[in-house]
Amino acid sequence: MRRIYLDHAATTRTAPEVIDAVVQAMQVDWGNASSSHAQGQSARRMVDAARIAVATLVGARPEEIYFTSGATESVNWAVGLAPEFIQGRGDRLVSSAIEHPCGLESAGRAQARGWITAAARVDSGGILDLGSFQEALAVKTALVSVMLANNETGTIQPVKEAARMAREAGALFHTDATQAIGRTRVDVNELGVDYLSLSAHKFYGPKGVGALYVRKGAPLEPFMRGGEQERGKRAGTFNVPGIAGLGVAADMAVEFLDKRADHARSIRDALEQGLLSRITGTELNGCREPRLPSHLNIYFPGVDAEALLMALDVAGIAVSTGSACSSGTTEPSHVLTAMGIPRARALSAMRFTSGEDNVAEESGLVLEAVVTAVERLRRSSPRAL
Ligand code: PLP
Repeated sequence: MRRIYLDHAATTRTAPEVIDAVVQAMQVDWGNASSSHAQGQSARRMVDAARIAVATLVGARPEEIYFTSGATESVNWAVGLAPEFIQGRGDRLVSSAIEHPCGLESAGRAQARGWITAAARVDSGGILDLGSFQEALAVKTALVSVMLANNETGTIQPVKEAARMAREAGALFHTDATQAIGRTRVDVNELGVDYLSLSAHKFYGPKGVGALYVRKGAPLEPFMRGGEQERGKRAGTFNVPGIAGLGVAADMAVEFLDKRADHARSIRDALEQGLLSRITGTELNGCREPRLPSHLNIYFPGVDAEALLMALDVAGIAVSTGSACSSGTTEPSHVLTAMGIPRARALSAMRFTSGEDNVAEESGLVLEAVVTAVERLRRSSPRAL
């Protein structure tokens, strides 16, 4: 049975071109990129090329890119460690209520380092409420961190406006662009951000590698100490295979951005239209636009999302719920909760994310499988519709 993968927000299949670069870095250019000899320098060239590719992807300069182990590290660095390097701008961090757990926990780390934190509200469509955001900025703020697109709903945040407001209030700005990169155009200068986090595996690159963009002149303290790599800011032997793979993924993300977005959108839209018209009571969670072309979050009244996920998995379809299991109980997604969605509805929410792994007829196949599973689940454990 060929499985259908509709969980591209969780991760993406590594592109064959990326695998070639990783293999090249492991089999041929396997030197230490810090070594002065020829083997070291050929590995170094791969790292340098990748830095240029990532810079190009986000409209930055190569020297503004720091390689990391992924977005979790980048966000922990820029946000969690900020109290150690952002000085003279107050001791307050403003973020949004819908950040990824790595953003929420990094805010917690900033708090543990003595900062005060505030989370601006989002509206019922999951978009940052700029009124609440402006209020939060009324108190002197050192750093703002607002994600560019939400991982659960795909909602694109008004980062450009928020960054302008932050700048006027004297604050620096970080954005977690992990979901947005490769799905929509991202330019650090157009957005006006000072820091940006990304992860390679969300756009067909390898897992365990990412980057932090830091605007020239913006403060930064080392994340790892013990070597001169990444200009002394992130010590440790270069992960040449991962970085080379990230570089190729970045090149491809630039080259195929529109094609990939159109492809993901056509599959997502067909599925969305089918689910909303065929299944009684279904509604979209989050706003229709502005939204990433890949993301679809649907409310299935009377259906336990975890049970639907399992039923679809058995039918060969990979999807996701936004809820988190902790100590044996299922907690509703903090993102949907922040949008004012009641617990019962949040526990009936399913995320479908399309991408390169899908072919056109899959939206129809998934639709039929969901219709069947929902009918069965509603019959077996009827909840109030
Ligand atoms: N930020 C967002 C918005 C994400 O969706 C993710 C991954 O799901 C991350 C950060 C963390 O990325 P990684 O696990 O690759 O470090």
